[in-house]
Amino acid sequence: MNFLALKRFCQECGHVLNGRRDQKYCSDQCRNTYNNRHYSDLLYKNRKINRILHANKLILIELAQSKRKKLPLRTFQEKGFQFEFHTHTRISKAGQTIFYCYDYGYLRINEDYYLIIHEE
Ligand SMILES: [Zn+2]
Repeated sequence: MNFLALKRFCQECGHVLNGRRDQKYCSDQCRNTYNNRHYSDLLYKNRKINRILHANKLILIELAQSKRKKLPLRTFQEKGFQFEFHTHTRISKAGQTIFYCYDYGYLRINEDYYLIIHEE
C-alpha cells in the first residue's frame, strides 16, 4: 500500500495534516492566508469586469443625451463600448432582447443602428 496516498497535506503550506478527515489546513494562519489570496483574486477579477460595465454605462448615459433616437453602431465603437459585457437582459414587448449595463440598456434595431433604453 502506498503510505503517501493516505496522507493529507495543508493546502497552503504542504505540511502533513493529522487532524479530522475534512481538515484542509494545518493552522488558522494557513487557512487565513489561503482564503485571503483566494478572495483577493476573486475581487481583482470582479473589479476588472465592474470597470468595463461602468464604462459601458457611462457611454450609454452620454449617448442617451443625443437628440437622435437611433444611434449608429460606429458611435458605440468609437467610444470604446464593449458589447460583450452587460449585467442582464430583458425581452421587450416586441420580442427584442434589451442588453443592460445596470439601468441603461440598448437594443439592436438592425445591423447598423441601436436604440438606447433607460429604465427609470
Ligand atoms: Zn499549513
